[in-house]
Amino acid sequence: MTKQDITRIKQLLSTPKKIVIVTHKNPDGDAIGSTLGLYHYLIKSHDDVTVMTPNDYPTFLKWVPGESSILKYDTQTAACNKLIEDTDIIFTLDFNAFHRTGNMESVLSKNASIKIMIDHHQEPDDYAAYTYSDVSMSSTCQMIYHFIDMLGHTDSIDTNIATCLYVGIMTDTGSFRFRSTTSKTHRIIAKLIDKGADNTTIHNNIYDTNSYKRLQLLGCALSNLKIVPESRTAYITLSQNELNKFDYKKGDTEGVVNYALSLDNVIFAAIFIEDRQEGIIKISLRSKGEFSVNEFSKTHFNGGGHNNAAGGRSELSLKNTIESFISILPSYNKALNND
Ligand code: 5GP
Ligand code: MN
Repeated sequence: MTKQDITRIKQLLSTPKKIVIVTHKNPDGDAIGSTLGLYHYLIKSHDDVTVMTPNDYPTFLKWVPGESSILKYDTQTAACNKLIEDTDIIFTLDFNAFHRTGNMESVLSKNASIKIMIDHHQEPDDYAAYTYSDVSMSSTCQMIYHFIDMLGHTDSIDTNIATCLYVGIMTDTGSFRFRSTTSKTHRIIAKLIDKGADNTTIHNNIYDTNSYKRLQLLGCALSNLKIVPESRTAYITLSQNELNKFDYKKGDTEGVVNYALSLDNVIFAAIFIEDRQEGIIKISLRSKGEFSVNEFSKTHFNGGGHNNAAGGRSELSLKNTIESFISILPSYNKALNND
């Protein structure tokens, strides 16, 4: 984002505007934190600001300040369409292409309002009038902090904004341990705590609200864990029957793939989760070091993301998806045994 872009955005926001903020399907902590953080900032000077998500999000996010005002496109379609039609500006946060919004793709791509993209995924599409894309950033929440800073308004960061931004930085960095976490990230986190973000409460709300069933599902996932030592790879499967057995709720499998990656001498981890309703296998990929799961997912599983964390999908059965994964691995053995 250039200085000129910032000057123009300042001008744009200096008079009352109707604003819609959207994020990707199956929103995570960074999606909810960044949209609501920006919402609390914009609502100080604009009356008409709405956050919309394509669909619902996990219960462990249903306390983030402002969360109850979010409209969900899949169940509130008419209201959302009207707001999108009438809006002056649409901020698109934490995704790089409209197809990542699922059912909102066509209405967003047809819409003529001014788009402002703020995102840290690789290869952003070129749909926005203003694009703030930086793949080195820990999270979109960190970028919202920088955005507010570029607009010269860090003084206006209050407890609500600080709490929202803390949520996304914490969740997207695996609690400040991934490589994208820099000293700058920590300096911003320190400022957010000074502004009122209660780090202990936020951590508890996100991570320490497990149900007994969720832990049993984790147990099932761990007992399905397999290792492919020659490829330094580990993977987990969860079938729809297993999900049903443990009363699966949205968000229950979040972070499970990291257990596979925590194994000694494993640098590539995957989880394959059957979704019979959508007729797909949802795939999460994680790596350590240079091995790019973004490339792997783009090449084989119709997805993408970041170097060390990406998502994808398969339309084969769970069994055939695993077979295909196993058959692909040997061609990566060299790269996987490189460091
Ligand atoms: P997860 O495995 O948690 O679903 O996704 C890991 C990361 O990759 C997240 O940052 C997510 O936004 C991104 N991601 C997941 N699926 C896709 C996809 O299909 N395309 C792209 N570009 N990014 C994805
Ligand atoms: Mn993110």
